Amino acid sequence: MTADRLSLPGFVTAHSHAFQRALRGRGAGGDFWAWREEMLAEAARQTPETVRAGYERTYRELRACGYTAVGEFHYLGMAEAAAALEAARAAEIEIVLLLAAYERGGLERFRQGSAGEYLEQVEMLRSGGARVGVAPHSVRACSAAWLTEIGRYAERERLVLHVHADEQPREIEECLAEHGVTPIELLARTGCLSPSTTVVHATHASDAELDLLADAGARVCLCPTTEANLGDGFPPIEGLLQRGIPLAIGSDSNVRIDPLEELRELEGIARRQTGRREIVPLPELLAIGSTNGAASLGLEAWPRVETDLSHPALQGVAPADVPAALVSSCSADVFS
Ligand SMILES: [Zn+2]
Repeated sequence: MTADRLSLPGFVTAHSHAFQRALRGRGAGGDFWAWREEMLAEAARQTPETVRAGYERTYRELRACGYTAVGEFHYLGMAEAAAALEAARAAEIEIVLLLAAYERGGLERFRQGSAGEYLEQVEMLRSGGARVGVAPHSVRACSAAWLTEIGRYAERERLVLHVHADEQPREIEECLAEHGVTPIELLARTGCLSPSTTVVHATHASDAELDLLADAGARVCLCPTTEANLGDGFPPIEGLLQRGIPLAIGSDSNVRIDPLEELRELEGIARRQTGRREIVPLPELLAIGSTNGAASLGLEAWPRVETDLSHPALQGVAPADVPAALVSSCSADVFS
C-alpha cells in the first residue's frame, strides 16, 4: 500500500454472458420469461464479428471496474467462442470459457446433436490452449443422460462444472414433473455435484438442496444485480452461510458492472432477511468477490487491482476502515 493506492486481489466475475450487456435499458416488462424472449432475440443477432467487438468493449468495462478475471458462460457457437477468447486477450482480462451444453430448447445455434458432440467441442477448445470448464446449461436444457455423461467427463478430466439451477420457481416445477426431484437433487443423482461444481443462482433452493450442496463441497455463484433486475427472488444467504457453502459472484447479464455493488447487494439482502448487520464477515465478503470466484473457475493466478485512496468517496476514511468502506459506500470508479 503506497500513500494513495491500496492493492487488493482482483475481483472475479465467475458468471458472465457478455452479449447480454446489449439489453440494458430495454423494457422487456412482464417477468423473467418475457425478458428471456428479448435475450434470445439478441443472441440470435450475434455473429463472430459482433462477439469479437462487443465482448472486448464489455471486458474492458469489467477490467476498468476492478474485475480481472471472467467466467464466460457461452452458448453462442464455436466461432463465437474463439471470438470471445480473442476479445478477452485484447482487453487483458483472464478468461475461463464455460462452454454450455444445450440439448433442447433455446435457439438452434445453442444446441449440440449429442453429449458426445458437445464433449468434442470442449476437447477442441482445450487442444487450442483455452482454459475451459464444462457447463450443462440447466436441467431445462439438458436431460439426465447428458448430465450424467458430462459429469463423468468433468470428474475424469478434473474440469470445473458450472450449471444454472433454481433461478425460477417454474424451472423447479418442470423438473419435479419430469424427474420427480428438484434441480439440485437431479444434479446430485447424475453425478454433477462435487467440489469442482458451481451452481449458479440457487435462488429457490430448498433446505434439502442446500444440504446436498454442502455434502458435495459444491459452490454457489450469486448474481445479485441481475437477480434483482430479473425479479428472481432472494437467495437463501443465511442457509448457504450456515452450511459453509462457498459463495462467488457473477456479473451475469452485466446489467451493472460493479463488484462492490454485487457484494453490497449480497450483504444487504442478508441483513434484510435477518434483521442483523455484518452477516458476512468483511474478509469473507471480499473473498467472495475475488479468491472464491477464482477457485470456482479453477484459476490459480489473476491480476490484482489498485484502489485510488484519493477518490472523494474515500476522503476522511481511516486507513483501517477502507476495505469496509469500499463495500458499504463506494462504486467501482475507485478502481479506475
Ligand atoms: Zn446465466
